Amino acid sequence: MTDLFDLSGRVAVVTGGATGLGAGMAIGLAGAGADLVLVDRKESEETARSVRQLGRKAVPLVVDLSTMAGVNAVVAEALKSFGKIDILINNAGIIRRVPALDFPERDWDDVMAVNAKTVFFLSQAVARDMMSRRKGKIINIASLLSFTGGITVPSYSASKGAVAQITKALANEWAQHGINVNAIAPGYMVTNNTENLRKDPERTRSIDERIPAGRWGYPEDLQGAAIFLASKASDYVHGHVLLVDGGWMAR
Ligand code: NAD
Repeated sequence: MTDLFDLSGRVAVVTGGATGLGAGMAIGLAGAGADLVLVDRKESEETARSVRQLGRKAVPLVVDLSTMAGVNAVVAEALKSFGKIDILINNAGIIRRVPALDFPERDWDDVMAVNAKTVFFLSQAVARDMMSRRKGKIINIASLLSFTGGITVPSYSASKGAVAQITKALANEWAQHGINVNAIAPGYMVTNNTENLRKDPERTRSIDERIPAGRWGYPEDLQGAAIFLASKASDYVHGHVLLVDGGWMAR
C-alpha cells in the first residue's frame, strides 16, 4: 500500500523552491524518494541542503521565470542533470496589492507572466519530455482566488483563475498520453506571500474567524497533497483542483 506513494527514482522540478510552499513541497517529495531540481530567481541552497539531508539529489537553478528564455533554460538544465522530468510543480508566483481603480498595467503584466503564462509554457515544454515516456505528473499551484475574487489583488485573482482553467484544459488533452495535470489550491498559508496581509490586524481577524481548522496553514501542510498528486496513488485523477485550506471553502 505504501508503494502507492513511493517516489524513488523520480525527478521533480519545483519552481519557487527557495522558500515558502515550494520549499515545503520539495522537501516532502524528497522525503518520499524524489530527486529535485529547485528553480527560483533567488538562491535555493537552503532547500537543497534539506533535500540532500534526506539522501536525495538536489540541483538548484537561479532562473527568472518571467521570460520564455527562463522557461526554456529550466527544461534544458533539468534534462542535462537528470535526463528526464517525471514531476513538475508550477509553484512560483507573485502578488501585487493595489485597489482596482488605481491598478497599474505593470502589476497586471508582471503577475500574469509568472503566475499564468509561465505555468502554461513550462508545462508545455516539460510535457514534450513526459510524452516520450507516456508518464508524468504536473501539479499547478492555484489559490482560493481561483474560486473567489479577492480584495485589491485583481491580477492575482485573474491569474489564479487561469491556473485552474489551464489545469483542466491540459488534463483534457494530455490524460490520454499518461500525463496527470492537477492543481492544489492552498488556503491562507504563513509565507512571504501573505506577509503584508498578516500585518493588517482587521483582515487577519476576519480570515482567522472563517477557517474551520482554527489556524493558518504552513508549507508542511501541502506535503501530503503534493506527494499524492506526484505519485501512482493519483494515476486516475485528472484536472482536479484540490483544496488544502483548513476548510475555508466549505464555509
Ligand atoms: P513566496 O513568496 O514565499 O514564494 C514564492 C517563490 O517564487 C519565491 O521563492 C520567489 O522568489 C519565487 N518566484 C517569484 N517570481 C519568480 C520568477 N519570476 N522567477 C523565479 N522564481 C520566482 O510565496 P508562497 O506563499 O510560497 O507562494 C507559492 C505559491 O503558492 C504561489 O504561486 C502563490 O500564489 C501560491 N499561494 C500562496 C498562498 C499563501 O497563502 N501563501 C495561498 C494560495 C496560493
